[in-house]
Amino acid sequence: MDVSQGVKTDVKTANGMMVPGTFRVVAGPCTVESYKQFEAGAKAVKRAGFEYVRGGAFKPRTSPYSFQGLGEEGLRIMAEVSRDLGMKVVTEVMDPYDIELVMEHADILQIGARNMANFSLLKRIGAAIAGTDHGVVLKRGLSATVEEWLLAAEYVTSSGGDNVVLCERGIRTFETSTRFTLDLSAVIVAKRLTDLPVIVDPSHAAGRRDLVVPLSKAAVAAEADGLMVESHHDPREALCDGEQALPVGALFGLKDALQPFASAMGRRVI
Ligand code: PEP
Ligand code: MN
Repeated sequence: MDVSQGVKTDVKTANGMMVPGTFRVVAGPCTVESYKQFEAGAKAVKRAGFEYVRGGAFKPRTSPYSFQGLGEEGLRIMAEVSRDLGMKVVTEVMDPYDIELVMEHADILQIGARNMANFSLLKRIGAAIAGTDHGVVLKRGLSATVEEWLLAAEYVTSSGGDNVVLCERGIRTFETSTRFTLDLSAVIVAKRLTDLPVIVDPSHAAGRRDLVVPLSKAAVAAEADGLMVESHHDPREALCDGEQALPVGALFGLKDALQPFASAMGRRVI
């Protein structure tokens, strides 16, 4: 399909994740490190007023020597903690082999930036979620154009799966003061070309926690439908991405920090 005509689908809710008139916040640690760590992290997200918790069990690390995640044990931890707290889980699936396992334990499947152009994974996830209540968060690739990102979404939707949410997470530029460069114009452009909801991940874009709240406010103003942010109950001890994790205090203040901007856009932060 020619994306200049837009990716036309009905407005989907991604398993209830996206609700009209609201601005959805997903928060939680980069990685599930232990039961205790994820439980503390998820409880903080809930206390901050949010229902959707993120965490990685399968981690796409740049170095093969970095912590790769707890795998199936991480999925079980997220499922148990979220069930006890009445929360929903967003987690990445990296390998077609793991799709069913991840679907058993999580509500929303994340396709990471490094896998945005893994077309066989996109097709298999699309086919797997077709007719189910699961949703997909599709991160934009590190160097992908908006057109490539939307066509990647079509790989999922045309394989039968709908309920796709796009996520802008920063792109590679020459700028070195941030880890990536958050491309908010892409959010606006994507929203003009498609009916799919678009959320923003300021944590991976900035790579620095001091920019996460200001960029989140900017995301609201740029017509984003939600956010995915990393948080940790003790960022200094985080096994992955601690420098960009919001500590508990900032997480607790996030809803109030965003609501005035969301109100100006006619939305309620949830
Ligand atoms: C993540 O959200 O944990 C992650 C690895 O993000 P990205 O794929 O955008 O780098
Ligand atoms: Mn991370």
